[in-house]
Amino acid sequence: MAKIIDGKAIAQEVRNELKGKVADLTHKGITPGLTVILVGNNPASEVYVRGKIRACEEVGIRSELISLPAEVSEADLLLKIKELNKDDQVHGILVQLPLPNHISESNVIETIAYQKDVDGFHPESVGRMVTGLETFLPCTPHGIMELLSRTGVDLNGKHAVVVGRSNIVGKPMALLLQQQNATVTMCHSRTVDLPSFTRQADVLVAAVGKVGLITKEHVKEGAVVIDVAMNRDVEGKLCGDVLFDEVSEVASAITPVPGGVGPMTIAMLLKNTVISAERVLQQV
Ligand code: NAP
Repeated sequence: MAKIIDGKAIAQEVRNELKGKVADLTHKGITPGLTVILVGNNPASEVYVRGKIRACEEVGIRSELISLPAEVSEADLLLKIKELNKDDQVHGILVQLPLPNHISESNVIETIAYQKDVDGFHPESVGRMVTGLETFLPCTPHGIMELLSRTGVDLNGKHAVVVGRSNIVGKPMALLLQQQNATVTMCHSRTVDLPSFTRQADVLVAAVGKVGLITKEHVKEGAVVIDVAMNRDVEGKLCGDVLFDEVSEVASAITPVPGGVGPMTIAMLLKNTVISAERVLQQV
């Protein structure tokens, strides 16, 4: 049976480490601050935002939630972001996605000063990541790298297969795995014969959003399986892309949903905010 990678416990470990750093920074006169902008009232977004704010409070990060109505104009939203860019108390700015259709996500992301882009979605952050420069890494793939390293998974020379190629998960995931010396294969909706690729994986990352996509037949004996997805099954229960029970019989380690990748995503957001505040201190 596979070892369960306990993302909740590892995220708590990370938050405990951050508490010390936040206390130290606060003592030196800089309290890390994160501002979250929520546009409209998408129920899932409201839940995510509440989780982020709560996590900030737990480690001592000063957090602020700006809720804007769904009809807010793009110009007004961009103006708000520009104000926050100039605010010294704000070290991280996060605009919760998705946004209403009349607002361009890329205009919003590009307006956030990349020095405060704690989500790691700004093209400057992405470019710096690709070229190996210091930057904010996107929280979900960064959290997965942290899970793998804290679980003692050595990626050197291993074959990692990433299913999904989105800008926020699949693409950066593949890049970070490759930077840690894995040989990486990326799969997506046009991949022909998905199992023939996933069965080669020493480390398999599923980031698609389809219940039951990854079965026992997709997984090599002894593989490490990371399930990023957050889906609802027919009963409305939260679940991933991986059929957990049957895949646990062949994998050596596996993340559950919930309690795997999700908590690490939030922990990395906090980490990026603390790093941003530390950079300010270094410039003083
Ligand atoms: P996305 O933008 O919808 O991307 C999904 C990817 O899956 C696309 O690249 C798509 O391929 C690929 N795909 C679709 N059907 C496929 C199939 N049958 N076989 C192989 N690949 C297929 O989603 P995302 O934003 O990356 O999120 C993926 C999942 O992770 C979602 O369930 C989301 O809720 C979850 N998520 C979780 C966290 C967390 O913190 N735990 C964070 C972010 C996202 P094409 O490119 O060809 O369309």
